[in-house]
Amino acid sequence: MDRRRLRHELHRLGMPAEFTVAQLAEALARTRARPLRLRPEPLPADGLTGGLLVTDDVDVVVYQRDTTALHQTHIICHEFGHLLAGHRTVDVRGPEAVRLLAPNIDPAVIRRILGRTDYAKHEEQEAEDIAGVLMRRYIADQAEHAEWIVPDTAAPAVRRLLDTLGPG
Ligand SMILES: [Zn+2]
Repeated sequence: MDRRRLRHELHRLGMPAEFTVAQLAEALARTRARPLRLRPEPLPADGLTGGLLVTDDVDVVVYQRDTTALHQTHIICHEFGHLLAGHRTVDVRGPEAVRLLAPNIDPAVIRRILGRTDYAKHEEQEAEDIAGVLMRRYIADQAEHAEWIVPDTAAPAVRRLLDTLGPG
């Protein structure tokens, strides 16, 4: 995704010239018509810094809890990069990673954990490029964001699922 396409995509999402992670998260959740969870977790220092889980009902971005706000924003923007580019890959591999990244989500709920075997390098590079452009040109600051972003369009079944998952 070159910068022009990214600009078009951001325009399609209704984004202003500059925005926060929270604003982009809300736009993505609204467009995808499903809740988006931005979940900090204490990930191993030498392992994954973040990941994206696309389940039947929810998109979950997990990011390293124990790092700077700037780094966290970059991790989240990288995962948003996968969504913006329409990738079907995620960064986590295997059920262990799923448990690590989303311990409260039943692995049976996970519909797609793509890229776990044929990890798509060019998609990783593209997500990283998008994160770089977002950070340099669009993200206004490291403002706070909610953990759950639930669009009005989320189905009642999803709201029940969220109740089931609880606050963990
Ligand atoms: Zn990635």
